Amino acid sequence: MSFKKNDICEIKIEDLGINGEGIGKADGYTIFVKDTVIGDMARVKIIKAKKHYGYGRLMELIAPSAFRGTPRCAHARACGGCQIQHVQYEAQLRFKQEKVAGLLEHIGGTKDYVMYPIIGMEDPWFYRNKVQYPVGLDKEGHAVTGFYAGRTHSIIPVEQCFIQDERNEKIMAIIRRWIDTFHISVYDETAHRGLVRHILTRIGRHTDEIMVCLILNGSHLPHAEELITELKKLPGMTSICININRDKTNVILGDQVKCLWGQSYITDRIGDVSYQISPLSFFQVNPVQTEVLYRTALDFADLKDTDMVWDLYCGIGTISLFLARHARKVCGVEIIPQAIEDARENARLNGIDNTEFFVGKAEDVLPAEYEKRHVRADVIVVDPPRKGCDEKLLDCMVKMDPERIVYVSCDPATLARDVKILEGRGYKLEKVQCVDMFPHSVHVETVVLMSKVKE
Ligand code: SAH
Repeated sequence: MSFKKNDICEIKIEDLGINGEGIGKADGYTIFVKDTVIGDMARVKIIKAKKHYGYGRLMELIAPSAFRGTPRCAHARACGGCQIQHVQYEAQLRFKQEKVAGLLEHIGGTKDYVMYPIIGMEDPWFYRNKVQYPVGLDKEGHAVTGFYAGRTHSIIPVEQCFIQDERNEKIMAIIRRWIDTFHISVYDETAHRGLVRHILTRIGRHTDEIMVCLILNGSHLPHAEELITELKKLPGMTSICININRDKTNVILGDQVKCLWGQSYITDRIGDVSYQISPLSFFQVNPVQTEVLYRTALDFADLKDTDMVWDLYCGIGTISLFLARHARKVCGVEIIPQAIEDARENARLNGIDNTEFFVGKAEDVLPAEYEKRHVRADVIVVDPPRKGCDEKLLDCMVKMDPERIVYVSCDPATLARDVKILEGRGYKLEKVQCVDMFPHSVHVETVVLMSKVKE
């Protein structure tokens, strides 16, 4: 049966959509409903109707789900950051694991593997090590920092964000006061005028080193001394920088960084590997769970010190370096040249000399190296972006005939698709471990082990 706009129906919410919305069915017709939770009985009004599915607005909660909780943050609904803060944390974890199992079954075509219980956070708050707040003015002309409301570009002021490091509150207050005191101009997107666009901070989880970087539509910061004097009073302040972005763009960072005080990077550790992190470097934002994720990858890789390893989509080499101490050699491939420079620098910094890094697309570099130099692999690790692995790459991996493939994934749908391809070519899905890297969001990271089927 089909529905049309303004129809009213009662449905039970049975699934969680990619933006945290609830999904239910009425007579086989799928309806996506914002602000609902798995387990809700809801009366909804169809606001947009397609042939096989539609979007509904919640009119009345007939019976609320037992999984509902009270969001800790007053802005949880308006801010896009936490999509499911209104769901109890234990239930969030369960939904994520069930999502992965469901996709492995329906897209991957398999139920025959060991699924370990998802690893959540003991304390799923204040976990992020990186903030990027836009800066604006309120009606009275005072500086505000916060987040963009919905799809607009007006800023909702936020003094406390429950997933960010609490030290950011003081940092932001100092900067806002400084802007007000010295009448520093803030960026106006429509007019493409004004100076301060965003504030970026990074905080080392293990080192407590703090970086503050102001993103400017310009190259000079007036009254910098006064700002530095206040910021450097904060314990751990290590790096105060500006980043220059004069473009009319949504991209936050420009490519030029100037250090105003201290050094141009902070250092942090994952396990016993240290990483230098500059304003432009990619670095995982949840350091506690990143370590859990990498330990799982290491465990699944089951390395011997004679093993040759390829780490594809390696970023700044975080997984490569984590594995290198346990292998004969690790080769990393990454498309962004700057990330590979960081990877090499991080290897040097840690005295790791059994890594080699390649710039380029994994699906080009690996086949080329295989053809040219007959490179081999005992273990291949992949950690692709959401779109998953290119089929050309999977082909080459299979040709290289590794014993084990460890697949780290941020999108279980493409993971399931790739698992199916590999299962069709001589590999078997053995183990699956979900890790909750982003509590209160719908995202889930998954590590799987696939082993070569012995003839
Ligand atoms: N393993 C890293 C980064 C994973 S994120 C870590 O844990 O930190 C995925 C990475 O893949 C990004 O750094 C992105 O730049 C890179 N990437 C995207 N497409 C690629 C491709 N076709 N070939 C190689 N790298 C790619």
